[in-house]
Amino acid sequence: MVSTHPAGVQSGRQYLANSTGAVSPNQQLLPLSARINNSDRLEIGGCDVTTLVQQFGSPLYIVDEDTLRTACRQYREAFQKYYPGSSQVLYASKAWSCLAVCAIAHQEGLGIDVVSGGELYTALQAGVSPDKLYLHGNNKSLEELKLAIDSGCTIVVDNWYELQTLGNWSSSIDHPIRIMLRLTPGIECHTHEYIRTGHLDSKFGFDPNELDKVFAFVSQHSALNCVGLHAHIGSQIFEQQPHRDLAGVMVQWLDKASGYGLHIEELNVGGGLGIRYTEADDPPSIEAWVKGVCEAIKDACAAQQLALPKLLCEPGRSLIGAACVTAYTVGASKTIPGIRTYVAVDGGMSDNPRPITYQSVYRAVVANKMSAPATQTVTIAGKHCESGDILIKEATLPPSQPGDILVVLATGAYNYSMASNYNRLARPAAVIVKDGEANLILRRETYQDLIRQDCLPARLSTEV
Ligand code: PLP
Repeated sequence: MVSTHPAGVQSGRQYLANSTGAVSPNQQLLPLSARINNSDRLEIGGCDVTTLVQQFGSPLYIVDEDTLRTACRQYREAFQKYYPGSSQVLYASKAWSCLAVCAIAHQEGLGIDVVSGGELYTALQAGVSPDKLYLHGNNKSLEELKLAIDSGCTIVVDNWYELQTLGNWSSSIDHPIRIMLRLTPGIECHTHEYIRTGHLDSKFGFDPNELDKVFAFVSQHSALNCVGLHAHIGSQIFEQQPHRDLAGVMVQWLDKASGYGLHIEELNVGGGLGIRYTEADDPPSIEAWVKGVCEAIKDACAAQQLALPKLLCEPGRSLIGAACVTAYTVGASKTIPGIRTYVAVDGGMSDNPRPITYQSVYRAVVANKMSAPATQTVTIAGKHCESGDILIKEATLPPSQPGDILVVLATGAYNYSMASNYNRLARPAAVIVKDGEANLILRRETYQDLIRQDCLPARLSTEV
């Protein structure tokens, strides 16, 4: 049975076919290396998930290295196939920034898009070379800008305040500052409003109506080395047309830049490719998405008789999203006759804020009874002091008991990176699994970690 990777990757692998050969829709949302072992338990990267929880604690983020590396390679190979000119895929590390994930992206030949000094520091510490780092942000601090300049990464300039600041600094710095310009393309996507950034009413990027002024400013500051233009239209997008439209718009900007004597070599079309969170989601494959973008850029450049720019994109979700699952331990449950059954787990909105923030829908399996028939529809509740802390409103699962290991699927993107200590819950550990080996990539926080930054002024101190 050929299964479909959540990000639309054709895996060609057989996984999770149980003894009857059946593969349930939820199983099709699991990472590439997932299978059911002889004990009827879920295995990822050759590691038994229930055993991982016993070893590393609960809840636990589990990252499948094969899935992450496969997605990186699919982006890279698709660009090689469909874009003869030069290209660079950047990993949007806002989806999950930590040393191990940045290191894998780097090993796979990807650059990294960072949006803060913290993400920049993380990528540098992971060994990513500055020439493959791009700093975003609509309100970068002066400190962040200085760190970017000192480390030699490219600054994606978002607004006039930033451009003028860099313009003022550029004369006193002994090397040109490498910048790109982020513009708001005015393209709307049918996605959640909070993650829609490409329409004109957005806090991000220059208004394209000001393009002449922006280009004129840059052309008057020779120490600003403007190498490229950037736009990002949103996230979790399944349609391909918006990115095709974006390519056309960006090539027109490129054309305009040449009128100001600017030598713009790079176009960055942002990220945004969606993934499968449920069986109803049907995103294009990575290859189809890249093909669409490359063809649109080539067509638009041919129409304007422009040389092909270096083409960049910066996916986050479609690289890391499907690679991770979160394993929780089932605790209390509560049945309200005729209404619903709540099954509570030992995490919730602090390790996955997407359901409460975006009403995102997830699917789950019970790792220690993979072949048990899914006969119950229950509501998976988190443990936070918040009625809205519901991870899955309607989960169809086998009947579960305290101690069962509930695994929420496709949690790699914007879960750990948006995690908090709400209610002073310690953030979970994360492991990366491959070929039967599990390595810690994030240590579980302890109670001591929770008070590490606390200060207790002497006059408030009481003997403990
Ligand atoms: N680039 C920018 C500027 C973004 O704001 C985002 C996310 O919103 C991304 C890239 C990554 O998007 P995605 O994770 O949907 O691929």
